[in-house]
Amino acid sequence: RLVLGIETSCDETGAAVLDETGCILGESLHSQKEVHLRNGGIIPPVAQQLHKENIERVVQEALDRSGVTPDQLSAVATTVKPGIALSLGVGVLFSRNFVRRHDKPFIPIHHMEAHALTVRMLRPVAFPFLVLLISGGHSLLAVARGVDDFLLLGRGQDVAPGDCLDKVARRLSLIKHPECSTLSGGQAIELLAKDGDWKKFAIQTPMGRIRNCCFSFAGITSHMTSKIIKMEAEEGVEAGTLLSCVNDIAAATQHAVACNLTKRTHRAILFCKANNLLPSENPTLVLSGGVASNEYIRKALSIITEETGLHLLCPPAEFCTDNGVMIAWNGVERLREGLGILPPNVDVFYEPKAPLGLDMTEEVRAAD
Ligand code: ATP
Ligand code: MG
Ligand code: FE
Repeated sequence: RLVLGIETSCDETGAAVLDETGCILGESLHSQKEVHLRNGGIIPPVAQQLHKENIERVVQEALDRSGVTPDQLSAVATTVKPGIALSLGVGVLFSRNFVRRHDKPFIPIHHMEAHALTVRMLRPVAFPFLVLLISGGHSLLAVARGVDDFLLLGRGQDVAPGDCLDKVARRLSLIKHPECSTLSGGQAIELLAKDGDWKKFAIQTPMGRIRNCCFSFAGITSHMTSKIIKMEAEEGVEAGTLLSCVNDIAAATQHAVACNLTKRTHRAILFCKANNLLPSENPTLVLSGGVASNEYIRKALSIITEETGLHLLCPPAEFCTDNGVMIAWNGVERLREGLGILPPNVDVFYEPKAPLGLDMTEEVRAAD
């Protein structure tokens, strides 16, 4: 059985063809990252236009590279939620026409479910496991109990961790640093933080007294922004031209994000243990999403998992960020279990906002 996966929820146009074992037969990915970096953030109509310009070619490339023709496909799986409405619409419309033309079943995919399950394409990871997803648009903690069975323990309440790093990077104009010109905000912060000292701008971990697993990164964002403004005033330089202490600010921001993530995750692990939500044999924390490619953050989380006896798994960076492969893999998992497979002529809709799984965030608050 062969599945074509299509992703357009944010700023990556991705497609891939996978077989039932998770073997990638062909894939193609077009990233809009550089355009959005230049614009200082994602402008939805611009993202939409770029998806429109690229989707046909990206899907054709994935098919060509796999040597699979549309009639050989068992199903088409496409991200329909959550994401930027204008971006989602392009993939959904394309897929709707594609499955009608080729008379193929359609599998609507939840983007965060796909991020959570990617690890199972690479190695056997049995349900249930704890998963932490951290990206430019999301932060969430959930127990994955099955392909479409999640308990949501914590979710982002404001700015996502990747967005926090991107905003600080933008405020520092890191794109003007020669070694950072093609890097995302998060990557630039990670690189500069290597030569910085976080203690010079240390801040308290947010929501220290809030006893749940939800996330907030707005405080870190505004705190670091005001530090930057203060330093610019002290140095008497224009906005975005700070020279000294850029590395220290990067290190402090990264450290604050890491501490925040480990604190919330630690609480989720304790909650899972207290409620027997994870197996006693080989309990696992899966880490994914663009921010998961950050070594410092991985290291911080590995300290917590070691301390609590959990096994930490993180897909390689290319599978942590958005791509068509993870969507196709989610399609494979759903096809195997016969979950949410729709006929070719069905009307497909997209949902910009869509929570993942059963909301347990209030229960977690009560438990600690
Ligand atoms: P979504 O939330 O819908 O998945 P997204 O497109 O922002 O949205 P990704 O493509 O998974 O998600 O991740 C992009 C984010 O990851 C950006 O915010 C980027 O700054 C961040 N990021 C990428 N590499 C690193 C890194 N090495 N360290 C920290 N953050 C990083
Ligand atoms: Mg992206
Ligand atoms: Fe994503």
